[in-house]
Amino acid sequence: MAKKSVKAISTLESIYGENVFGLKNMKKHLSPKTFQSLQATIKEGRSLDPKIADEVAGAMRDWAVSKGATHFTHWFQPLTGTTAEKHDSFIDPDGEGGIVMKFSGRELTQGEPDASSFPSGGLRATFEARGYTAWDPTSPAFIKESENGAVLCIPTAFLSYHGEALDMKTPLLRSIHALAKQIDRVAKLFKVQSKNIRPYATLGAEQEYFLIDKNFYLERLDLIQTGRTLFGRKPSKHQQMEDHYFGAIKPRITSFMEDLDRELWKLGIPSKTRHNEVCPAQFEMAPVFEELNLAVDHNMVAMEVMRQVADRHGLVCLLHEKPFAGVNGSGKHNNWSLCGPDGKNWLTPGENPHENAKFLTIICSLMKAIDTYAGVLRSAVATAGNDHRLGANEAPPAILSIFLGEQLTDIIAQIEKGGATSSKEGGFLEVGVSSLPTLPKDVTDRNRTSPFAFTGNKFEFRAVGSHQNCSGPNIVLNTIVAEALENVCTELEGAVAKGKDFNEALQAILLKIVKKHKRILYNGDNYTEEWHKEAEKRGLPNLKSTPEALEEMVTESAIKLFEKHNVLSKTEVLSRYEIYKEMYEKTVKIEAGVALEMSKTLIVPAALRYQNELAATISGLKANGVNNDKVSALLVKVSGLNEKTIDAITELDKAANGHEPANMLSGMTELRAVVDSLEEVMPTEYWPLPSYTEMMFIM
Ligand code: ADP
Ligand code: MG
Repeated sequence: MAKKSVKAISTLESIYGENVFGLKNMKKHLSPKTFQSLQATIKEGRSLDPKIADEVAGAMRDWAVSKGATHFTHWFQPLTGTTAEKHDSFIDPDGEGGIVMKFSGRELTQGEPDASSFPSGGLRATFEARGYTAWDPTSPAFIKESENGAVLCIPTAFLSYHGEALDMKTPLLRSIHALAKQIDRVAKLFKVQSKNIRPYATLGAEQEYFLIDKNFYLERLDLIQTGRTLFGRKPSKHQQMEDHYFGAIKPRITSFMEDLDRELWKLGIPSKTRHNEVCPAQFEMAPVFEELNLAVDHNMVAMEVMRQVADRHGLVCLLHEKPFAGVNGSGKHNNWSLCGPDGKNWLTPGENPHENAKFLTIICSLMKAIDTYAGVLRSAVATAGNDHRLGANEAPPAILSIFLGEQLTDIIAQIEKGGATSSKEGGFLEVGVSSLPTLPKDVTDRNRTSPFAFTGNKFEFRAVGSHQNCSGPNIVLNTIVAEALENVCTELEGAVAKGKDFNEALQAILLKIVKKHKRILYNGDNYTEEWHKEAEKRGLPNLKSTPEALEEMVTESAIKLFEKHNVLSKTEVLSRYEIYKEMYEKTVKIEAGVALEMSKTLIVPAALRYQNELAATISGLKANGVNNDKVSALLVKVSGLNEKTIDAITELDKAANGHEPANMLSGMTELRAVVDSLEEVMPTEYWPLPSYTEMMFIM
């Protein structure tokens, strides 16, 4: 036994990262000088020395070929929210009927995919259709294996020929840079001992997902085409017993998870935690956090691997935010923190008053950032899918607020007291002088209902949708925090230059922030009606739908914000807005189309058959002189529902021919309500769709 487990551990260690050309492999395959230069690019954020590109490309090719790769691809993240790749083989005819394997530095660093089929939101009209991909050396190349071969994937940014971002990665990298710049300023002000590390944000993206048997999936046009069920009666038992969350994992699912972990580990994705989630058939995978840009790439790959591994197990992985109505939806808990030039997590309270002052500066800046730009942050999680989730069944509301926990809230209150001219209570907190009570490392009274919760050493943004690319929300988060820090630093630097005492100046700045932005703090239950009312009183925005929320990304202040920090130009912001709006409208229109198709071709015919059978039964009963009142009543009920269904179809048809997503959505809701009532009375053998019970419980 003991022998076997030792063997298992050594195998795991040896497979971890085996398909990644990371630092370990680079060191092995590159000359020391080239390795050092590349390492400086990766770790310190220096620009790439073009002279080393050829050597790196050669080493990468040899490594990839030794792993069975025949092709390479510039792997990128267009604005469709997915990933994109176009494969080129390494082969180069040698002129003698044979080939050599070729991969140049130029091919590594730059590619030219045809950009014309990707959404550009008007950028194409103004500029050229062509785009190019540029190597991102900070995210290591990896190998995607398939049954018959392998492809070397090179993470890249995707830009127009004039440098406009056409993807998610470019602005993410820019926002990381903007944030680092401000963190460096804070570090200087607080005289933080630098270890020559470029400051960076960290991300641990907890990924929720559903698994259902593939056979059921194949019978649901709605799942195939829209990712969510457009019809389906809620089963008598779903999640109300609270017996699924953290429950014993079914063997078939465990087997999936084991396979998934192994595939992720091979790709250097540090999958750490796996468990059942709240809803039956719902699960979660949480990785160990990493540098933000890398973590985003890893999450994109992880979602793809999840789908593939599920398929191998005869399952389908649903990443939609709300595959099933009436029960828990899926999100991505975006755990975000900051690492300073000292290599330390800056969202951890320090060990002395000075370090605590820095910690409180960051916390207050976050309050300022979220309160000032709540709308912009909300717009970054606005998708058609997430609209069904936010504010419903155990998902945070569309209202943004911050949970700090009791102790930290109390500390913030003490800062505010310092500004009271006649504070009888006394004992306010002097920033940089007073010691903080030790905060528990792991805040136990975590508030699961808060959209933005401080959880000891990081903030957890829970409004992110399960299938979203995490870049969007993190671009906003980085930029608004950079802006808040910029304001604080400018004021503090000015005060210090004028000869003011550092701690006094800081105290005054933090006091001002707390006074102005404390309305964003909320420790209570975010799911309640009282909070919605309270939030309204406080003037916090409650942007319920995507169209409303998207307007927030194109306000004058939002555009100014992105421009100021060189994250997105006005043109880029506007183009993104167009794309997201169009994506939303298309999604709703497709859903309406699928709902119509299913109801016309599956549901109505089945219901008519049942109606017919009931009518025949009644005739038979009558002919035999048997009382048939109750059966007749059933026929009346079914006939009534059939008519209502046909009416709802007519209404939805009208809406679907128009251009108003809101009308389509309400038309779908009406249709669904009557179809779900039909499902309740129809014989199972006549019902043309797998039920919620089957999909959630049978696997
Ligand atoms: P839960 O929120 O489910 O209770 P944990 O607190 O254990 O779970 O952590 C959730 C996620 O937070 C994990 O992916 C973890 O890696 C991540 N995380 C922990 N520390 C940090 C950090 N400093 N920066 C970003 N993410 C972090
Ligand atoms: Mg969590």
